[in-house]
Amino acid sequence: MAIFPENLAELARGTKGFMPTKEGLALFDLASAIQSTVPGPIVEIGSYCGLSTIYLGEAARQTGRSMLTVDHHRGSEEMHPPSPFFDQSVIDPVTKRVDTLPFLRRTLELSELESVVTVAIGDSAVVAGLVADPIACLFIDGGHGALQEWVDYASWADKITVGGLLLIHDVFEDEKDGGRPPFEIYTAAVASKQFATFTKDTGSLRALRRVG
Ligand code: SAH
Ligand code: MG
Repeated sequence: MAIFPENLAELARGTKGFMPTKEGLALFDLASAIQSTVPGPIVEIGSYCGLSTIYLGEAARQTGRSMLTVDHHRGSEEMHPPSPFFDQSVIDPVTKRVDTLPFLRRTLELSELESVVTVAIGDSAVVAGLVADPIACLFIDGGHGALQEWVDYASWADKITVGGLLLIHDVFEDEKDGGRPPFEIYTAAVASKQFATFTKDTGSLRALRRVG
């Protein structure tokens, strides 16, 4: 079993973001356990300030993979006022727009993951057009709007190689607990028969393995 280092656990505790510790550790365990025969990088959609990136990036480092993290850094719909997820401290003082890139960069420096994790600043679907398959692991945690979640799934999931993982965050079976789109793409991935469940769920994190 791979070990997540205590210094990174401490860094994660002080990093802004939306990844509960248990789910972050599950991300680390899942990505660490990908067979070395499965080719390709780990790709994350939705870096924000790099909280989930610490967990996936450390798995990449320990297993000798590279990682790509994708975000336009302008925040999702739900991260603007008057949402409770709005954080005034991620506003650029000059342009007055959301800019989480400086926070991500600091997280990667403090975690010493700069040589493992490549940052792609841009729209997820546009970046997908620049990235060749295969990829070993796709983590979808970007925009959760009705359209964007499907765009992320449609533009990236086919790149996952057989034996690789599709990880989806904020999947809630009961709509009282959260929005529908992540649950919808999870259901669609299982229904496609290209992906199969293989492990127990951790919070709202769902893990599927590419089987066909
Ligand atoms: N994984 C992060 C949370 C991600 S929040 C954590 O662990 O804390 C979702 C992120 O998706 C936001 O930073 C937002 O800017 C980004 N995002 C939303 N829509 C996007 C799109 N179309 N392309 C790229 N990034 C997008
Ligand atoms: Mg999330």
